[in-house]
Amino acid sequence: MKRLALLLLPMLLLLGCAKAPITGRTQIIMLSPDQETALGLQTEKEIFKTEKISHDPRYTAMVERVGKRIANATKMDLDWKFYVIDNDKVPNAFCLANGHVFVYTGLFKYIDNDAELAAVMAHEIAHAIAHHVAERLSVAQLTGLATAVANQAIAQNGGEYAELFQAALGIGSQVGVMLPYSRMQESEADHIGLIIMAMACYDPRAALSFWKKFAKAGKEPIVYLSTHPTSRSRIEQIERLMPEAMKEYRACRKSAPGTP
Ligand SMILES: [Zn+2]
Repeated sequence: MKRLALLLLPMLLLLGCAKAPITGRTQIIMLSPDQETALGLQTEKEIFKTEKISHDPRYTAMVERVGKRIANATKMDLDWKFYVIDNDKVPNAFCLANGHVFVYTGLFKYIDNDAELAAVMAHEIAHAIAHHVAERLSVAQLTGLATAVANQAIAQNGGEYAELFQAALGIGSQVGVMLPYSRMQESEADHIGLIIMAMACYDPRAALSFWKKFAKAGKEPIVYLSTHPTSRSRIEQIERLMPEAMKEYRACRKSAPGTP
């Protein structure tokens, strides 16, 4: 039984291999798309219970317009839906695994145009299309499984199994699952989001103007399901990626010159 579990672990890791869009990073995703959808719907139920949905067209029209354009640019067939949450105190947004996006009215204090909203929404949508929640759950699940197997094996056999365990975990560390992944996912969402907004014909420089404004106001995004990086490291990364994003933006402008 223990032997079987030890053999199973690397196999599970291989079966769950996926690639993140845009960055091409190798990921371990043990959840099926159906499980991800179910997870999204379950979270959504809780949100509808506790949060007040706004129907104020000053916000909903903008969120729909920008969200649809970004969703199209991802070329991902999710059940895209866009909601505004009536809460002026929360300057944040998030996107569930099923493609349902929520923007708090509190964010609009920092938004001066569609492109700035696109920067935030593309970042949140990037978390969803890169399956970040499923990835975190998978890693937690596998780490739990691995630890349980190892503890049992080491308790019984010491050295022999300890070595096997190391080998099994080695697969994990090769693809980066054992690294602190929430920061990594955040910077990946910044990367994917920046390129996606440019592919949707939004000027990616708006991501810089938004984050600078946000940092100046002394606001770090409120953590929702994740740890966000500091404003400075985030701005530096966006600056580094700007030439790549501008290339996408110019290509989009050229192919669709009338886009507002
Ligand atoms: Zn994020």
